Amino acid sequence: MTVDMDSARDRLMAERLRVTSEMQALQDDLSHSLEDQTDEDGNDSHLADSASETVDREIEQSLEDNAEHLLACIDAALGRIDAGSYGKCERCAEPISEERLEALPYATKCIECKRLEERG
Ligand SMILES: [Zn+2]
Repeated sequence: MTVDMDSARDRLMAERLRVTSEMQALQDDLSHSLEDQTDEDGNDSHLADSASETVDREIEQSLEDNAEHLLACIDAALGRIDAGSYGKCERCAEPISEERLEALPYATKCIECKRLEERG
């Protein structure tokens, strides 16, 4: 069974668009909460609020890091399509199953190697 490169590319581009717009939304959120923070500066009664906003920002930051990581994976997968190596496990060089690529279009390892890796 061969991987359909065109639909793989479509899936990756769609995923890329989704992650990019999510990142954009996060960045908008981030700049809004920074603005809020500035407005409340010097007001002691908002200390508790500021603390929870800091936590929110940390969560948003890690989501953003995650999104950046995803984008890198997606771009790498698009590069593999161009290079003709898409859909091959980078560990054992066996083809990655189509179901797995449909669920995770930027997968770099077959399910067996992934399981081995997770087991350590
Ligand atoms: Zn493998």
